[in-house]
Amino acid sequence: MSASARIDRTLCLGTGLCESMAQDLFLLDDEGLAVPLPGDGGDERTELLRSIADCCPTGAITVTEKGPGAAARENAHESKG
Ligand code: SF4
Repeated sequence: MSASARIDRTLCLGTGLCESMAQDLFLLDDEGLAVPLPGDGGDERTELLRSIADCCPTGAITVTEKGPGAAARENAHESKG
């Protein structure tokens, strides 16, 4: 399964937290706001993206999973509260 991250630039404060947690997944651009880096990966990358999204102080990061079982995993994640 793969996942992609999206940043809501109206919410990003440029804290750099996401970049510091995974420099191969996020970086701060010239405006000081985070951008997700492209890349493929399996469950490990997906879990890392989710952890970082959970840590973002403004909830600016949205993670979308693709592939079989993505809907079930999304539901499981949401029901965690
Ligand atoms: S952790 Fe959130 S607020 Fe901080 S730079 Fe990343 S996206 Fe922006």
